[in-house]
Amino acid sequence: MSHVVVIGAGQAGQTLTATLRDGGFDGRITLVGAEPEPPYQRPPLSKGYLLGDIARERLYLRPRAWYAERSIDLRLGQAASDIDTAARTVRVGGGTLAYDTLALTTGLVARTLPAEAGGTLEGVFTIRTLADIDALEAPLRAAKHVLVVGGGYIGLEAAAVARTLGADVTVIESGPRILGRVASAPTADVMRRLHRAQGVDIRESVTLERLTGTGRVTGAMLADGTGIAADLVIVGIGLLPRCAIAEAAAIETEGGVKVDALGRTSAPHVWAAGDCASFPFRGARIRIESVQNAIDMGAAVARNILGAGAPYVPLPWFWSDQYDVKLQIAGLNTGYDRVIVRGDGLPVSHWYYRGEVLCAVDGVNDSRAYMVGKRLLEAGRSPDPDALTDPETDLKSLLT
Ligand SMILES: Cc1cc2nc3c(=O)[nH]c(=O)nc-3n(C[C@H](O)[C@H](O)[C@H](O)COP(=O)(O)OP(=O)(O)OC[C@H]3O[C@@H](n4cnc5c(N)ncnc54)[C@H](O)[C@@H]3O)c2cc1C
Repeated sequence: MSHVVVIGAGQAGQTLTATLRDGGFDGRITLVGAEPEPPYQRPPLSKGYLLGDIARERLYLRPRAWYAERSIDLRLGQAASDIDTAARTVRVGGGTLAYDTLALTTGLVARTLPAEAGGTLEGVFTIRTLADIDALEAPLRAAKHVLVVGGGYIGLEAAAVARTLGADVTVIESGPRILGRVASAPTADVMRRLHRAQGVDIRESVTLERLTGTGRVTGAMLADGTGIAADLVIVGIGLLPRCAIAEAAAIETEGGVKVDALGRTSAPHVWAAGDCASFPFRGARIRIESVQNAIDMGAAVARNILGAGAPYVPLPWFWSDQYDVKLQIAGLNTGYDRVIVRGDGLPVSHWYYRGEVLCAVDGVNDSRAYMVGKRLLEAGRSPDPDALTDPETDLKSLLT
């Protein structure tokens, strides 16, 4: 193995290449990125960076010189294509690169509204890349009426920024409640109250018929015939794994690039990690969209490329900042059958159980609950729900 090519210069790709070098790999490494920027952190794109609180340089995971110092050949602004798994080649920037080992860390692409629903009108934006923010920043500051389509994390974070910048903001969510896919109903209740207290108009169970306007967006028409005026629209309706390059090479996909517990795809010498990869976990196949997963899985796959042979086991955590409120989540909050609420108002925490087993904890302005929950999950321990609801219980005592 003398040449490792990594396709996708994001969080997972950067970690994978760094871990290869730290692990003693002294062969050639090429990191190919379609974006013109060196790998950067995306979470601030819908938070502090969009608000103008964070300088661009602080987004970069490493300065450009870091890659040169480690002999990592960083090829930016070049989309890789046409993997030939038999010949072990991939097309990059008009040429062909031969690889011994290939890793796919291609991430996700934001879902957009189709043109017939107004998705291509001027004034309609998505948030996934720095280029998206470059396009959005100035119009957002000038906007008077912002419509956010989709009440997931990115939509709600963008709504908080738009409101903080002074716009009237409406959020429409087609599901019965905001955060339907990613958090419990009690957590959604807290975030809904927060936004409404800030003056954001949150409407749930509402279907968008189409955005309106000629050339430029002027609003939206809902399925019930209601109209909403808007001079700027942010579409946050989910993300899709970037699997096309794998599919074209007949590499198996299943809700993402399909890998085994070590991170190997169906093609020999081809691995995958991060947002784009779907992997086996507790009898199911999952894909995790989070920085921590991109880092941990990128590192685990690099170690396995070097021969560690250790299955990747995620210990997920996630956060979201909206106004001055921090939501922190530990564990996988899917497949739960009840939620124990600890606290009234803020801070508050939500403890997700499957039967008697604790599977996730989220804390809203409650970093103590989050930390204790994270440690309990790491230890595979499930506290008695009655102890959690008792305000007299010192959370730290649950650790002993
Ligand atoms: C606005 C926003 C807010 C977020 N907030 C949070 C948060 O608060 N907490 C959290 O944990 N996570 C958050 N996330 C998610 C987190 O950023 C991602 O989970 C993480 O970036 C995934 O890293 P990745 O390397 O797998 O993919 P990415 O960071 O998406 O990197 C993939 C890269 O591959 C490139 N690429 C794709 N195809 C090709 C090709 N054919 N050739 C060359 N390059 C290619 C892409 O251009 C991209 O640069 C947020 C994401 C966004 C967009």
